[in-house]
Amino acid sequence: MRKRMGKRMQTEILKVDPKNPEKEKLEKAAEVIREGGLVAFPTETVYGLGANALDKKAVTKIFRAKQRPMDNPLIVHISDMGMARRIAELNEVAEKLAKEFFPGPLTLVVPKKEVVPAEVTAGLDTVAIRMPSHPIALKLIEAAKVPIAAPSANLAGKPSPTKAEHVIEDLYGRIDLIIDGGETNIGVESTVLDTTTLEILRPGGLPIEEIRKLVDVKVFKGKVEVAKSPGMKYRHYAPDAELIVFYGKRDDVVEKIKKLSGELVRKGLRVGIAATNLQPYSELNAEVIELGNSIEEVAKNLFSCLRELDKKADVIIAEGVEEKGIGLAVMNRLMKASAGKFYRV
Ligand code: AMP
Ligand code: MG
Repeated sequence: MRKRMGKRMQTEILKVDPKNPEKEKLEKAAEVIREGGLVAFPTETVYGLGANALDKKAVTKIFRAKQRPMDNPLIVHISDMGMARRIAELNEVAEKLAKEFFPGPLTLVVPKKEVVPAEVTAGLDTVAIRMPSHPIALKLIEAAKVPIAAPSANLAGKPSPTKAEHVIEDLYGRIDLIIDGGETNIGVESTVLDTTTLEILRPGGLPIEEIRKLVDVKVFKGKVEVAKSPGMKYRHYAPDAELIVFYGKRDDVVEKIKKLSGELVRKGLRVGIAATNLQPYSELNAEVIELGNSIEEVAKNLFSCLRELDKKADVIIAEGVEEKGIGLAVMNRLMKASAGKFYRV
């Protein structure tokens, strides 16, 4: 099938200090948002691709630029609770969690108000809201004076961007402006909680254990079960290379990866390994990248590592991590990116 690429446009890249964002630069980016354009910007989780959430024409451009299916709703980013109340009805749970965790890596699905266009919510009567803590994100929304709808700033299906270079790879020539504010801190997307059902729809940057200290929430299993079944169609967060994940007892995982890597190399394939530690793989004829020793480091480096290995390997083999804290989000992304090639050893 021929891909419709749309006309290429001029993309400006604006370097902004992540700690002390220059006011005039954010004012310029806010102007692009108010005029209905698309701006990629860093948040504490991953880079977002933003448009005025109240302008349905602008929002439609997000789907076109990302080649994202229209039935996947967007998260609306807000800079204060007044803005949240203009677009949503906050129930008791939402108020409680917002008070504790906003700004931060938590998205709350709440009943929406009339002003939010159907394009933002994929026709649902709920809207997902988040207040980012990254100074650039927060100050950009403040300057724009409108809520900003923003999914991750990558082409649909690809690993999310954690550096401006990743956004440039995927979206240069397709959007108006890219704010380069350096590497994002958390590295995986926000935790999404449906406050109307108390279900976690997506594990993410805020550990479920933290939420459970305040509210009793369930983990929505639907998508996970589908993803675990063989022949799964839905691949997300994925490199072009085939991705195979092994998890379980570390020694067994290492053995398994060494064995498979040898077999693949003998077949003439280029192998990449995403490892928590380089050491056991030093003898292998493979490209090895270290994700990091702590689970927070692994989360921060995950997507960047997948993008890096994708340039050098036909098959990527990754070590899984423990499903604790942010590890649950890491495993969720690895599982979806591997399209079912996700094995306990
Ligand atoms: P991303 O596009 O990567 O930022 O991810 C946005 C996530 O939020 C997706 O998993 C969406 O399905 C989810 N989401 C956004 N709005 C809603 C909503 N109203 N109800 C349920 N899930 C939502
Ligand atoms: Mg995304």
